[in-house]
Amino acid sequence: MKDSFLDFNEKKWPLLKKDLKKIVGDTAYNNWLKQLSFISNKENTITLSVPTKFLRDWIVNNYSDKIKNECKKYIENIEAIKFVVKPVGGRVVPGTTRTIKSTDNQWKTTMDIRSNQGSSYPTDFGAPLDPRFTFDNFVVGKPNELAFAASERVAESEKVTFNPLFLYGGVGLGKTHLMHAIGWKIKEQQPDRKVIYLSAEKFMYQFVRALRYKDTSAFKEQFRSIDVLMIDDVQFISGKDNTQEEFFHTFNALIEQNKQIVISADKSPSDLDGVQDRLKSRLGCGLVADIHPTTYELRLGILIEKAQKRGVEIPPKVLEFLSHRIISNVREMEGALNRLVAHATLVGTSITVETAQVVLQDLLKTSNKKITIEEIQKKVAEHFNIRLTDMHSPRRSRSVARPRQIAMYLAKSITSRSLPEIGRKFGGRDHTTVMHAVKKIEELKHNDINFNEDIELLKRLIDS
Ligand code: ADP
Ligand code: MG
Repeated sequence: MKDSFLDFNEKKWPLLKKDLKKIVGDTAYNNWLKQLSFISNKENTITLSVPTKFLRDWIVNNYSDKIKNECKKYIENIEAIKFVVKPVGGRVVPGTTRTIKSTDNQWKTTMDIRSNQGSSYPTDFGAPLDPRFTFDNFVVGKPNELAFAASERVAESEKVTFNPLFLYGGVGLGKTHLMHAIGWKIKEQQPDRKVIYLSAEKFMYQFVRALRYKDTSAFKEQFRSIDVLMIDDVQFISGKDNTQEEFFHTFNALIEQNKQIVISADKSPSDLDGVQDRLKSRLGCGLVADIHPTTYELRLGILIEKAQKRGVEIPPKVLEFLSHRIISNVREMEGALNRLVAHATLVGTSITVETAQVVLQDLLKTSNKKITIEEIQKKVAEHFNIRLTDMHSPRRSRSVARPRQIAMYLAKSITSRSLPEIGRKFGGRDHTTVMHAVKKIEELKHNDINFNEDIELLKRLIDS
């Protein structure tokens, strides 16, 4: 039953919250929405409070749709929802309102203009830190010990240490986690230092916006007034020359002023494509720490930690199974764990290796088939009775060139590697050579059934 607006009050608020809990699940509710309190309803607007700005932004950015829908269910004529910051036991902090408003049947979010003081163009500089990403929650193993130690050092020392600290590694191996951890630690131990974390994409976006508002000086000022700047995923800056230029200058200015910089990317500075050479060498002039792909031990360690944090009991056999089978990255492994727990809770079964096999079928299938280009080269060389080195050699005689083309074709069809990556593994060949090989083999397969059978047989051999 919908209430008319004035009937919705503090007493009904718990009912709405209970519904929210059902919708988002216990974990999300406890982490984020539990601290949401009801303040008032006036003029078709309800006002809710949370204890911190961070929580406000997180809730508005991630849950406003759900909250809005819930409110609409309870309250007729609702036009806006306001979120204000009110520390526990304190008063509402002025200038902290974010509003989601219904105009023309569309809900839009606006920020209290007072929170943009001192700048002539709208900013939301920096991004919030995720409370789950702390050093305490980071599991250290051989593959990430250097990156971890360097991050901790940067966070704990009061003086600038390695500048910049450049963290790099594949997707989901903990780069963002470490950066947030640095941020939290500095906030905790040296609250006077101003720390800004943002993605390279956001950096570019802000720069472009500053250009549009013809206010690049304010943009630069902002960066220059901080103590620690962390920019995540700088590979996204590649090719954008204008932004790179600005990045380079901002970067130099900060380094000259002895401010700490932390950068992450998916590649080492020298391997960043489409980045100017002088920027590459600047990026690499501090400490470059890479995070290697996880080992079985590290994966198991991480799973144990994540399971403990969620407070769920998972048989060691299942954790071992997951660590063995999901090897691509930590994020995927975490996703698998979540799915398993969700399934068990919903269906009410216990978590076993058998249920894991069923519930995670799709994930297991793909990560099961992580075949490397090297394995393909080896199998193909064996099959055609040529030397493995012929896969990389410049020799062009038919007896080695054809098997090499077949190996390239198989690399393309079995692995997820790109043409340039494949070319590199074949003695640094150009991606057009790989493309040519793929076409050639496809054509041969199409025209010759025996050849086709041979290739399919090879594929099965490699795949199994
Ligand atoms: P990246 O930024 O390198 O792509 P993230 O930092 O986003 O990766 O990590 C992906 C997920 O994996 C996050 O949930 C993170 O907490 C988790 N994770 C990665 N490495 C570790 C680790 N060593 N210990 C605990 N959690 C980890
Ligand atoms: Mg990341």
